[in-house]
Amino acid sequence: MKITGYISNLRENILIAREQGKAIVLIPTMGFLHYGHLAMVEDARKDDEDREKVYIIMSIFVNPLQFGKNEDFDRYPRNLVRDSTLAQEAGVDMLFVPSAKEMYPNGQSLTTINVTQISEILCGSKRPGHFKGVATVVSKLFNIVLPDLAYFGQKDYQQFVVISQVVKDLNIPVQLIAFPTVREHDGLAMSSRNSYLSSEERQQAPILYSSLQEGAVLIAENETNADVIKTKIIDRISKESKGKIEYVEVRNAHNLEQIEKIEGAVVISLAVQFGSTRLIDNIILEV
Ligand code: AMP
Repeated sequence: MKITGYISNLRENILIAREQGKAIVLIPTMGFLHYGHLAMVEDARKDDEDREKVYIIMSIFVNPLQFGKNEDFDRYPRNLVRDSTLAQEAGVDMLFVPSAKEMYPNGQSLTTINVTQISEILCGSKRPGHFKGVATVVSKLFNIVLPDLAYFGQKDYQQFVVISQVVKDLNIPVQLIAFPTVREHDGLAMSSRNSYLSSEERQQAPILYSSLQEGAVLIAENETNADVIKTKIIDRISKESKGKIEYVEVRNAHNLEQIEKIEGAVVISLAVQFGSTRLIDNIILEV
């Protein structure tokens, strides 16, 4: 595995891989890798242990543009030594670790990508500017790498919908993969931010997924009222944890529009604050 912090060096290596006929795969991350990240690498590497077909680029960049003023940019966990070992073992070909200066030479980007409507709801209403930061940096990465394929986690489902919209609206020739959420043994979605949790918070956090599952069971039993599902989930989390609910929403999984009646592709999505740690999770159902 190679490591570079420079766009020019990255591009030189991509050119060689392309000349070798390999498909270019991009897996953008903010690092502090866990198995949720590494499972995407393994998926991209499967059927190509000999490294003849795909060239896997993982980026690690804690993007200042997507953090609000009072958010956790400074304390976001970072460990490049550990990350590079894990990335190499999982089968990454090139680890791209640009500095903020490499990505934003003028300290900021005068050009930004703003996806209206779907950036303003759910996580976007609590984190104004967040998805603009995400859409901008991902668009930059797409332009730097020109990947054939890019992996994103379903755990950040709104992010996936926003990026899909960018790709569609700007005719970016990349195939997106929404990778299923990888969970701890007790159901908690893996996240770099789980490292912030106290032991008590960590014990309570699996309530998020189990309440989502309870919602799914109700829907499987023919409950079609979105409000009933929402209320059940809110009650359960409030009763069984100290988590402060930011939102629990039942929405159309394609366009994130609010729905009253549960039918078609549906996403149940939530954000809950445990102490100073904000956790998100979701499940997608086809009804
Ligand atoms: P992050 O480093 O948290 O920005 O995540 C980088 C990418 O990995 C994003 O596309 C995330 O959605 C994805 N990801 C993070 N956690 C998980 C998980 N538990 N399962 C699957 N994908 C994940």
